[in-house]
Amino acid sequence: MRRSASCSCGELSIVAEGEPVKISACHCRACQRRTGSAFGVAVFFNKEQVEISGVSSGYVRSGDSGQSIEFHFCPTCGSTVFWKPEFRKGLVAVALGCFSEPATLVPTQGVYEETRLGWVSFDFD
Ligand SMILES: [Zn+2]
Ligand SMILES: [Zn+2]
Repeated sequence: MRRSASCSCGELSIVAEGEPVKISACHCRACQRRTGSAFGVAVFFNKEQVEISGVSSGYVRSGDSGQSIEFHFCPTCGSTVFWKPEFRKGLVAVALGCFSEPATLVPTQGVYEETRLGWVSFDFD
């Protein structure tokens, strides 16, 4: 399986080979701010599975475990396409909404449930 993902303008893109390691719906406040939405969805791959094309700007945020996450977004349109968590060095997370066929990707877990908005619920809860 080969999946492609890109930012809004298309200048920053990723091709991911094979199946994701896990797919997390994250309800933390930082993901709510990053996406401007109710939650973020991270599709995790081993870094060997992904090939990144295009220029990205980086933003490093310290997580509450003290470990940082490096977010990469398109300098032209601002979409965050992928990020690298320090707590799992071998993994790259790709934003679910950036995939050309996001319907094929279903979250396998929810994290930061304590800040999940009350109207958000999934079948796997
Ligand atoms: Zn872009
Ligand atoms: Zn989050």
